[in-house]
Amino acid sequence: MSNPRLEIRNLSRRFAGQFAVDDVSLRLEPGQVTCLLGPSGCGKSTTLRIVAGVERQDSGEVLIDGALVCDGTRSQPPELRNIGMMFQDFALFPHLSVWENVAFGLKGAKSIRRARAEELLERVDLAGYGAQMPHELSGGEQQRVALARAVAPGPRIMLLDEPFSGLDDRLRDGIRDETLEVLREAGTAVLMVTHDPGEAMKMADEIALMRDGKIVQKGAPYTIYNSPIDKDAASFFSDINVMVGKVEGALAKTPFGEFFAPGHADGTILDIVIRPQHIRIDFDRAGQGPSPTDAMGHAARAKVLRSRFLGQNSLVDFKLEQGAALTASVPSVFLPKPDTLFWLLAPRKNCYVFPRSE
Ligand code: ATP
Repeated sequence: MSNPRLEIRNLSRRFAGQFAVDDVSLRLEPGQVTCLLGPSGCGKSTTLRIVAGVERQDSGEVLIDGALVCDGTRSQPPELRNIGMMFQDFALFPHLSVWENVAFGLKGAKSIRRARAEELLERVDLAGYGAQMPHELSGGEQQRVALARAVAPGPRIMLLDEPFSGLDDRLRDGIRDETLEVLREAGTAVLMVTHDPGEAMKMADEIALMRDGKIVQKGAPYTIYNSPIDKDAASFFSDINVMVGKVEGALAKTPFGEFFAPGHADGTILDIVIRPQHIRIDFDRAGQGPSPTDAMGHAARAKVLRSRFLGQNSLVDFKLEQGAALTASVPSVFLPKPDTLFWLLAPRKNCYVFPRSE
């Protein structure tokens, strides 16, 4: 089996006795995009900085293509690691022209460096901009120059630390897609940092969800969204509904029906978590007839409290007949009126049962 492009083994770093990075391990293949995702202060940037070689670890190892680049005692200098970096503050050199910025990290004759720079500028849709100065470009154009500069030396690994967060929404999507396309084409492994779950889902092959210096869950966006390991992991990606269930004979009883709770003693209190996106409203039957509960899931009758139109979707707040409140997200062609009765349905696989947490 060939070595992964980047391997991080049991990396730890403490500041003033506190773990900033706590036993983090990751493997990235060539062309793979892995996203470190988590709230501010959870250790994302420190992990990236250790891989870059601008921060040292207390313990653990970083390997590139199977070769050790640093452990707790030895460290290869950053410039020898063949790693590209793009940060939010990407700062082009103001006194150098656009092509000179792109060619900055290249060696060889000026004509060869210029040709490579022009080729990359074309690749990021900036053909003809080579002779301009950075201040003559818009923010989005400068960001594309920074991308061209970062990929120019053909790095094996690219580290991205929220490089798109300074751009407005419309520009951001375009540049993000372009960046990924350029990096995937080159087979570069990408380790990126963001606190934005939407950005992680759009970009990553694999998301590593971090909390308090640790990776608490790792997986493809689909898996991590649909199979969260706990309530906090679920709520990091969307608003959630939480219902309290009390266990009786391996079933947690809630206003939304009974949920399997094997392994929990009678009397245990559990959290039943359902995303608003996973609740369906049975618009056809207006709350009439028997419960539509079947093998696929849970059902409950509920009355609309209020509906909010949000453009792409509507959020509908319900009060269940059995008492609890729930919010459903439905396409915005629906905007049901207050006091209307409906049956609500939730697929069993999208109802998560967790031990109670505060
Ligand atoms: P953000 O999204 O805000 O950048 P982050 O997840 O990238 O956060 P880090 O910047 O890695 O988090 O910081 C992790 C923890 O380590 C924080 O508590 C931070 O204050 C601390 N920390 C980071 N660098 C240093 C340092 N050089 N000296 C002391 N503490 C540090």
